[in-house]
Parts: sequence; structure tokens; C-alpha cells
Amino acid sequence: MAALTRILRPSSISCSNITKCRYFSTTVPEVQNHNFTRIDPKDRNVQWVFLGVPGVGKGTYASRLSTLLGVPHIATGDLVREELASSGPISQQLTEIVNQGKLVSDEIIFNLLSKRLAAGEAKGESGFILDGFPRTVKQAEILEGVTDIDLVVNLKLREDVLLDKCLGRRICSQCGKNYNVATISVKGENGKPGMSMAPLLPPAHCMSKLITRADDTEEVVKERLRIYNEKSQPVEDFFRNRGKLLEFDLPGGIPESWPRLLEALNLDDYEEKQSAAA
Ligand code: AMP
Repeated sequence: MAALTRILRPSSISCSNITKCRYFSTTVPEVQNHNFTRIDPKDRNVQWVFLGVPGVGKGTYASRLSTLLGVPHIATGDLVREELASSGPISQQLTEIVNQGKLVSDEIIFNLLSKRLAAGEAKGESGFILDGFPRTVKQAEILEGVTDIDLVVNLKLREDVLLDKCLGRRICSQCGKNYNVATISVKGENGKPGMSMAPLLPPAHCMSKLITRADDTEEVVKERLRIYNEKSQPVEDFFRNRGKLLEFDLPGGIPESWPRLLEALNLDDYEEKQSAAA
């Protein structure tokens, strides 16, 4: 834990002001009328967290935002899978836990995260978008004790498509990117709008290298959803009570959701400026 405490330093004052100004003013009633100075996004060093049930798309959107904002996307699930693949001393123990859809111990997660942050820091990284962490209130409390989280994005998607999304998920065994072969199409009913999501197919060179995660089976996904509701949903309340939670209902696939998410984060004009400058 000491390593994490050392590495996860409190964010700069300007960073948290930006967050309050740009991200909270439209979503959190208590600070709606505050008039913080607008700071250009390029001066940011964001410390964000992505929450959401398995299969919701945290990795997809966190990764896109990390590219846009130039901060690392750190997914604890990826760190766990890297450890599994390394055949290190704890990999056997981890395989059993992960393949049953259970949570890995806090000690292991903090060790992996701490190592990842230290490696990033050595390369000059600053800020982060965390994905899949914190997953328990205990993890959230420890995180809160060592750093300021600026914003927590809670991605939400109708439950009846989550299982299909998890079962359709594929990873390129070479580049590690996530894809999805599922075609989601649900009709609207009882006032709820329908939803369609096209598959997210890989480029030709990844196609033959696609693998399915061992924990993306129907039985394990159901267990992961159950564990999310039991252990991780309280994390939403934890950040909601602190006025840090931005709820975002995904309206569909990436083409519909990405622009809306940028809008919710007040980053829509930022992306345009970035593309124009490229
Ligand atoms: P994910 O890719 O986020 O679905 O994570 C895959 C698996 O890694 C989870 O089902 C857990 O077994 C483990 N894991 C990832 N992040 C955490 C965490 N913050 N706490 C405990 N276990 C985790």
C-alpha cells in the first residue's frame, strides 16, 4: 500500500478546478452556480474513473478518451490478464478467481496498480483514466485517501443487451485491442426506445488473431453481473454522495454514444480542435 500512497499523488489545484468548472456544473446541483475559470483542456492532467457493469463498454470509451486527452487508460482487468499470461507466482491462483468471475484480493490489485503507475511515472505519464477500479467501497476509500479523483463516469446500458455484448466480445491476441462481433437489435417496448448496435469488427490483420476471454461465458458473465450489483454498485453511491458521479446512459453503439459522451463531458469542441490541428 505504501507504494500506492507514494505514487497516487493528489492532483493539482488547477485540475480539480477544471473538473468543477467544466464537468460538474451541468450535472451536480450543489455546484451548478459556481463560476470557476475555464481552463483549456490541454492544460489538464485528469484523474478520472470509469464505472459500469461488465460489458457496458468502459474499456472502449475510456480508451478513446485517453487518446483524446493524452492520459493513460489503466484497466485493472488488463493488468490482471497480463499477470495471468506471465505465468508468474500468483498466476495460477488468479486464473481460478478470474475464471469464476470473482474479485481478486485488494492486496493483489493494489500491487498491480501500483507497479503500473510507477512504470508510467518513470516514462513521464501523468493523470489517468482508471477502468475497472475501484470495484469495492474499500478500494474507493483507499483511493480517496491517497489522491483526488476529479470525475467518475458511470456508464449505463439496458441490462438485456449486456450478456450478448459480453458473449460477442473478442480481443486481438497480438495488439490487445477489444472488438465485438455481436449485432444487437432490441425493439422498443413499454415506452423504452429500441436499440441497435453494429458489431465492432477488427481490421483485417487482427481478424485471425481474435480470442474470447475465458470469463466471457454465459455462466461467468452472470456471476460477474451479480458480483457487480453486490460489491461495485455501492461504489456508485460512494462517488454520488461526493458529487463526483456523472451518470451516462449509452444511447446505442459508438456512432451514437461517442458524440453524446463528449457533449456530456463538454469535450465536443475539444475533439473538433484536435482533429483540425492534426
Ligand atoms: P475486467 O476486465 O474489468 O472485467 O476484469 C477482469 C477480472 O479481473 C475481474 O472479473 C476480476 O476478477 C479482476 N479484477 C479487475 N479489476 C479488479 C478490481 N479492481 N478488484 C478486484 N478484482 C478485479
